[in-house]
Amino acid sequence: MMKETLVGQLLAWYDLNHRDLPWRRETDPYRIWVSEVMLQQTRVDTVIPYYCKFLQRFPDTHVLAAAPEEEVMAHWQGLGYYSRARNLQNGVREVVARYGGKVPETKEAMRSLPGVGRYTAGAVLSIAHNKPEPAVDGNVLRVFSRLLRIEEPVEIASVRRKIEQAVRAMMEKSDRRGDLSQAIMELGALVCVPRSPRCEQCPWQMSCEAFRLQLQTVLPRKKALVVPRVVQVYSGILIEEGRVLVVRRPESGILAGMWQFPSIEVLSDNEDEAVLKNELVVHFTQRI
Ligand code: SF4
Repeated sequence: MMKETLVGQLLAWYDLNHRDLPWRRETDPYRIWVSEVMLQQTRVDTVIPYYCKFLQRFPDTHVLAAAPEEEVMAHWQGLGYYSRARNLQNGVREVVARYGGKVPETKEAMRSLPGVGRYTAGAVLSIAHNKPEPAVDGNVLRVFSRLLRIEEPVEIASVRRKIEQAVRAMMEKSDRRGDLSQAIMELGALVCVPRSPRCEQCPWQMSCEAFRLQLQTVLPRKKALVVPRVVQVYSGILIEEGRVLVVRRPESGILAGMWQFPSIEVLSDNEDEAVLKNELVVHFTQRI
């Protein structure tokens, strides 16, 4: 089936079925950017009130760039993954410093902003500027791995590229790129869901290879799981005159930027407590 037909079918379905979400009433790239960052790793229902309050307080790039970081964090409290908020503010500060507060319209300029990856750049450029830039997240990978019956795991870079090309090809054939971008995401969120896809409601059922071969519940295939590493930590609680010492974790890695009691990693099961205590004291007195 021709891609134009797939595009037409999907947009017709989207026009009738899409959810009315606050960011869907926006074309301001800054506001789209905020929504996309909040929606990473967080459910739509949870995001809505945060999004509305955040934009009441930080309505444009200039206000967010000038705001104290603690206040931005306070508006993010409860959403989790705080490095997203820090990156968003850093990116916006760069937009103000380099582009006078106007979110850039090219992929290269967007991707050079702190914290802006391929997905966020694609989402902002397609939704706010109607550019044929794919925004490929887990939902989109799942939908296309089924539609095209891709048997390799979607985490592989070459598979992601293949899916990006397929999305871009669809976008180039449409003048409604922003709607198309959102329609693909919406199909993944409402119909082509992870466990029990609702193929009977799907506008692409007739073209879907996974549906034809009844593979829709086994695709996308998963890469072999990486065994998690168990990390043992030795922590010290120092209380002096009613005050408790806490330190900030490094800016990258696990729990980046979060506060904790002074801690060191225990490298062997047989470590002596006196040795660990000494190492902990040496480690933190060197940092002070
Ligand atoms: S027919 Fe089923 S598996 Fe195929 S895209 Fe639609 S919902 Fe997904």
